Amino acid sequence: MSTFPLRIGTPDGLLFEGEVERVVCRSITGNLAILARHCNFCTALGMGEAAVVLPDGTRRTAACIGGMLSMMNGTCRLLATTWEWKEDIDSERANAAKKRAEEMLAKGGLTDREYKIAEAKLQRALVRLSVKS
Ligand code: ATP
Repeated sequence: MSTFPLRIGTPDGLLFEGEVERVVCRSITGNLAILARHCNFCTALGMGEAAVVLPDGTRRTAACIGGMLSMMNGTCRLLATTWEWKEDIDSERANAAKKRAEEMLAKGGLTDREYKIAEAKLQRALVRLSVKS
């Protein structure tokens, strides 16, 4: 199958650079798969499971929490707010974050801002746990 160059970066640095067969992630408008020769394209990313398929068929999954993806002239660049490969996700930490967020939401009396923060924290924890499972 044809491959194309992919770079994945976060504010912490470059996490991946190489040829891939496919990248799959959640955009703000739905699930997205990019293959070689995809037309020029740019989108904001949502929160969800992402995957990269390498030329040997290996599929690496990750939690992707927002960012931007572009495909320009055959090169794909994915700049994520947070990208964690499945093997790097700490389940205990995600479970603890989930519990804290659920407790905050259950407690009530939150300002709009606090509610949004707690809800976003819960969503991030759920994505991490779903990728890890
Ligand atoms: P926590 O309350 O545990 O910090 P969070 O959702 O608020 O969770 P983020 O602000 O999204 O954390 O992430 C901060 C940094 O910590 C990022 O670099 C992210 O990749 C990393 N990180 C957060 N949770 C985990 C986890 N469960 N496993 C691995 N890395 C994590």
